[in-house]
Amino acid sequence: MTRFEDELSRNNFVCSKCMKCIHWVWPPSEFCNKCLGNVEWLHVPSNATLVEFSRKGDAYFCIAEFENSIRVIGTISEPISDLIPGQMLILEYCTYDKTPKFVFKIS
Ligand SMILES: [Zn+2]
Repeated sequence: MTRFEDELSRNNFVCSKCMKCIHWVWPPSEFCNKCLGNVEWLHVPSNATLVEFSRKGDAYFCIAEFENSIRVIGTISEPISDLIPGQMLILEYCTYDKTPKFVFKIS
């Protein structure tokens, strides 16, 4: 299990960030994917932007973007009337079970 997966399984969404390039390395890695420099592991702020969504029965699936760069696939937990791409989401919780799981709610 990688550090990312381990933290995620404990409801901590962390990602590597290169302090030289000042950018998030996504997918997370021990080294910067631009300069190969060392990274720091930091908590990703829990607010995200809804990029796309789809509905399957009562479940809503979404692509959400953190920090204008980190895109993840997740679900939206609350009953929803209107979802609009670009609106703000809050990461409710995350975990790891073979794949990353991200659950959002409307902010
Ligand atoms: Zn870098």
